[in-house]
Amino acid sequence: MTTTDDLQAQEAAASPAERHSTPVDGVEVVGSLSPSRAGDFVTCPLLYRFRTVDRLPEPPTPAAVRGTLVHKVLEDLFDLPAAERTPEWAAARVEPTWQQLLEAEPELATMFGDDGAEVAAWLLSCRRALEVYFRLEDPTRLEPAEREAYVETVLDSRLLLRGFVDRLDVAPDGRIRVVDYKTGRSVRVGFEASAWFQLRIYALVLWRTRGVVPSMLQLVYLGNGEVLRYEPDEADLLATERKVEAIWRAIQQAHETGDWRPRRGPPCAFCAHQSLCPEFGGTPPPLPEALPLPDPAVPATAHGSDAR
Ligand code: SF4
Repeated sequence: MTTTDDLQAQEAAASPAERHSTPVDGVEVVGSLSPSRAGDFVTCPLLYRFRTVDRLPEPPTPAAVRGTLVHKVLEDLFDLPAAERTPEWAAARVEPTWQQLLEAEPELATMFGDDGAEVAAWLLSCRRALEVYFRLEDPTRLEPAEREAYVETVLDSRLLLRGFVDRLDVAPDGRIRVVDYKTGRSVRVGFEASAWFQLRIYALVLWRTRGVVPSMLQLVYLGNGEVLRYEPDEADLLATERKVEAIWRAIQQAHETGDWRPRRGPPCAFCAHQSLCPEFGGTPPPLPEALPLPDPAVPATAHGSDAR
């Protein structure tokens, strides 16, 4: 099982000291990039460095873990026969799913105080997010083709693009809908463009691998109960490919020059690395020695720490 951490390590493998390539499906790829990490670089090159090059740990946050928990319940929901996909079932899965997460990562308990009040309020917030989901969609009328789908493609530049799609719906006529759940709100300035960019990257990967431009990209915001939709076309996805390639070139240049500029903006409020950031009076640590090149052909799973 490969985790998001492994994906970050593989992306870090593009450093100049390791600029040798590695084969994926017979193609010598020069590196790999996920939509999340591309989004990091666009948001702030220094944030990308901290996460992907330095691989600094980030303490779990209630918001991020709520995203993980809610995604898991929504993934499991579609294992049930359609008639059993009820709000009551989803609400009842919150506590056991939290226990599963705790079992895998006992340090998650440190997010909350000892008296149980904070965790109770947080579990309630998870149930509320799921209640909102049932107001936005009727899962008894849906049969997703795939959930937590791992997708990858190699671009002409030999850059491996890959990531996980929350849900893929495929209509009988072959039309594809790409669905991304967000447990936050849709109105957060500085995040909306990033969310669409990441969904376009998934659409690009699907187009390249399946030969079909997804007919719909859908962001489902469970924080404020809003569904945003966008119909991409080939021109959109070609522009996305050019942007991804430009980001990759900028990442390579940053590796070569060591110039990972901080970019101050609204996402700084959620950044775990403010104390190391020059924008906030900090000093980044020395750049690490090159990491060994892992095998990017290893299939991956798990959502990991992507902020949702
Ligand atoms: S605090 Fe802001 S500018 Fe600094 S690394 Fe984090 S996101 Fe970038």
